[in-house]
Amino acid sequence: MPDKFVFVTGGVLSGIGKGIFSASMARILKESGLHVNILKIDPYLNVDAGTMNPNQHGEVFVTEDGYEADMDLGHYERFLGVDFSRQNNLTTGQVYLSVINKEREGKYLGSTVQVVPHVTKEIKERLRSMKGDVLVVEIGGTVGDIEGEIFLEAVREFAFEIGGKNTLFAHVTFVPYLKTTGEFKTKPTQQSVQILRRTGINPDMLVLRSEAEIGESAMDKISMLCGVPREMVWNLPDMKNIYEIPEYLHSKGFHRIVGERLGVKVSDDFSWDYPKKFRNLRIALVGKYLGNDDTYKSIVESIFLCGVKKPVLLDSEKMVNLSSDELGELLDDYDGFIIPGGFGERGVEGKMRVIEYARINKKPLLGICLGMQLMVIEFARNVFNLPQANSTEFDPDTPHPVVDLMEDQKRIMRLGGTMRLGAQEMVLLEGTKLHEIYGGIKTVKERHRHRYEINDGKFPHLFKLPKEGGYRLTISARSQFVEAIELDDHPFFIGVQFHPEFKTKVGNPHPIFVHFVKSVGEYSMRRKMEVRS
Ligand code: GLN
Repeated sequence: MPDKFVFVTGGVLSGIGKGIFSASMARILKESGLHVNILKIDPYLNVDAGTMNPNQHGEVFVTEDGYEADMDLGHYERFLGVDFSRQNNLTTGQVYLSVINKEREGKYLGSTVQVVPHVTKEIKERLRSMKGDVLVVEIGGTVGDIEGEIFLEAVREFAFEIGGKNTLFAHVTFVPYLKTTGEFKTKPTQQSVQILRRTGINPDMLVLRSEAEIGESAMDKISMLCGVPREMVWNLPDMKNIYEIPEYLHSKGFHRIVGERLGVKVSDDFSWDYPKKFRNLRIALVGKYLGNDDTYKSIVESIFLCGVKKPVLLDSEKMVNLSSDELGELLDDYDGFIIPGGFGERGVEGKMRVIEYARINKKPLLGICLGMQLMVIEFARNVFNLPQANSTEFDPDTPHPVVDLMEDQKRIMRLGGTMRLGAQEMVLLEGTKLHEIYGGIKTVKERHRHRYEINDGKFPHLFKLPKEGGYRLTISARSQFVEAIELDDHPFFIGVQFHPEFKTKVGNPHPIFVHFVKSVGEYSMRRKMEVRS
């Protein structure tokens, strides 16, 4: 069991950056040589995020061990530079599933199974089972939500059991600015602290999110009215980007305050290597989950951490019915394209038109998972003249199933699993661009989340025939399946069955993104030179 626990709760509004604050806190503590672990608590009934639509909840993040997590786990991995696992996420669904299973197995020996003490005990046991010197526990949602109450009660009991010196409760709120009166309003924070206190938890620290710096008088007022010592009241105004936050907090001595409170030694050194300048490259991410900004989070952050401004999200569905001229005009504004993963048929034909455009116009294109499958389908249709080529995901009766369910996969589905998930090893084939991108290493493990595979067994000629009209698609990585493909006569036309975006860390973006961005930069230079001449 860890020695020290930091519990982060949220008040006033959701979506104010509690996860980013928690990840920054964890990163700052890690810098002092402590083994920092995290637990993200999600008070929803889903057992994991695998069944959740990204439009509602942001991307599904996949860990090395194949757990389908909330996208916050991605922030934690990127900020801390480590790989987490299913151990690092706890949902209401998991807690109840475990309690109900135990009840069915007769493990409660005839007692009446109740929320208190049985469910709370289950949560506390999970806290005890975690490793590390310090555990940062982020409780999702907003205090006052019915869903979160049982977790607040469990951590209250837990803190009482292990003693106050070993815990720090940080409460993150939002302080709105009222333009008409020109002042920051402290009342929502006061009331959310009251709600938290009703659960029996006294916040040790307040973290006040705001659009601009709050100013001393409002900070003093919050300290006084919430009964939290002034040095434990922190303001976190909006920054240009989330990667500035750990450095900002550290520069203000946050580590010393936290170290003192928890009784741990902290260091004044802080090395945090994120890009300070961002190039403006014209990259389009052609997707269909447009419900919120978080649906392709790890891809967007992977580009950003290469020092390039965030890509523009284009709606693949809108491209299906455009004329060729209209499509050309739209896509002419971009020097590189990413076709991300996805499930279901919607928008697929639009993505395929972008792939064709990028292939013919020799513009850099990176296809991820579904993106790669569509690259193969497009190639079969337009280069190999198989107009009905498809994935059996979209057309179960296609005469040319170039993407299909493989026998191994059918077996997994019969066993109740549905997808190929998590880190899988593959061999990089010599002489390919991908092999070069990985620096010439032979094997690599990358994370997966898919059911369908390239059907190269049935369509070997797609990859083997001599060049057709200058085009040749090469397989560049293999496991028992095709893991990556590339076009040899093109600056960057690479498709990968796995998700490189899940491996990007701050200071260490995935090499596939580094090379993609480089190639887009070169394309953009060439275009500018052509315009000038
Ligand atoms: N729908 C495709 C499959 O299941 C691709 C999945 C994905 O892009 N993550 O294989």
